[in-house]
Amino acid sequence: MYLPEPLEHESFPDSAYAKELRSGFPDLRFAPDLERSFQSFHLKQARTRVRFFQLALGLLAIAAAVKLTVLESMPVRGVALGWLGLVIPACFALALASWSRLYERLYLPAARLLLPVIATVSAFGIADRRIGGHPDPFCFLTTFSIAIFFLGGQPFREALLVNIFMVAALGLALAHAGWPAADAVYFMTELVITSAVGAFVYQGVERQLRTSFLERNLLRERVARDGLTGLKNRGAFDDDYARLWQQAMRDRRSVAVLLIDVDHFKPYNDRYGHQAGDRALRRVAQVVQRFARRPLDIAARYGGEEFLLALYDLGAEHVREIAEQLRESIEALRIEHDESPAAVVTASIGVSIVSPRPGRSPEGAVQLADEALYAAKRGGRNGIRLVDCYGVNYSTGAFRRSA
Ligand code: GH3
Ligand code: MG
Ligand code: MG
Repeated sequence: MYLPEPLEHESFPDSAYAKELRSGFPDLRFAPDLERSFQSFHLKQARTRVRFFQLALGLLAIAAAVKLTVLESMPVRGVALGWLGLVIPACFALALASWSRLYERLYLPAARLLLPVIATVSAFGIADRRIGGHPDPFCFLTTFSIAIFFLGGQPFREALLVNIFMVAALGLALAHAGWPAADAVYFMTELVITSAVGAFVYQGVERQLRTSFLERNLLRERVARDGLTGLKNRGAFDDDYARLWQQAMRDRRSVAVLLIDVDHFKPYNDRYGHQAGDRALRRVAQVVQRFARRPLDIAARYGGEEFLLALYDLGAEHVREIAEQLRESIEALRIEHDESPAAVVTASIGVSIVSPRPGRSPEGAVQLADEALYAAKRGGRNGIRLVDCYGVNYSTGAFRRSA
């Protein structure tokens, strides 16, 4: 995917995707949280091929079992026992994991455990057949080696590990079966080269996949961000806020909405110019962002010189303290503003605290914060107001339904 320009660090200070793109993930692994989310994305993408791979593997295992025990009447011990006792159940378990509804949770742990088992028993089984000179059964190992990379659904490092396991198992198996050195070296070389080619090509494929995963998410993040401040934009706020509201309704918790409006900002632009105005907005935005400390808190640019902070499940006094700290922190930036009575950039903050219930709307809570904001403006600016509706200065009470 083409990105027009390198992503600026300051615009996305908290983007894990940008950070990984910058670092270039040399060892094909992301930070733990992101790695989990990549693996889940990768598994989803690979689902169809993983399922058919596991189905084919299972059918092949059954065909081999029939060939060994029925057609060749091999006694059920040694190779045949390993095949029936280990490979068939392993293939069955993998097929089940890959076709189950819990695929995303079960498949990788199962593959991590069982693919090496299949590789090892196959290596021993094939070496044990002592069909010197006839390379046919080895085709299974070489094909399996490539398939593990491209069809197995594991991340590169795990697929590589299965391959290393298989090469080691084949070495042991050839030695154990007493193969002539020249033949053993030949077959080992064949498998090592196949694995190496598979690894080389697949690591490039996975690097590409990881890059496009990061870019897609970064782009999605970018669409959800305000270009000037890097905060969430209005659309992203609406989505997150609706989710927060639902959660608060389910958990019977409160939601606090802080509407923050920079004071006398038109005169600031007139006096210092729009570019200085932009810089000031960015600095105010950084302060607002700092107050969204917990995972469910949301900081956003509402529009113009207005910001929103939604805080989950806090008592009225706590919210009042936070609003006051936020107001002080903006003042403490000490951005010169000759046209304002405070002589620095300040903000007014309107706060509403509500308990979401049927009949109350998330827009209503913002509307209340807006009313409180105007009260703060009327009260002289550079101040905070908790909403006071129907003459009651309430913390979690009823409020007007939205229009
Ligand atoms: P009040 O104290 O009542 O809030 O007065 P105010 O001047 O801040 O309010 P008003 O709504 O009259 O003006 C808001 C100004 O914010 C107008 C606009 O020039 C400025 N503004 C809005 N968005 C931006 C922006 O992205 N960059 C810059 N530099 N200024 C902006
Ligand atoms: Mg305004
Ligand atoms: Mg203003």
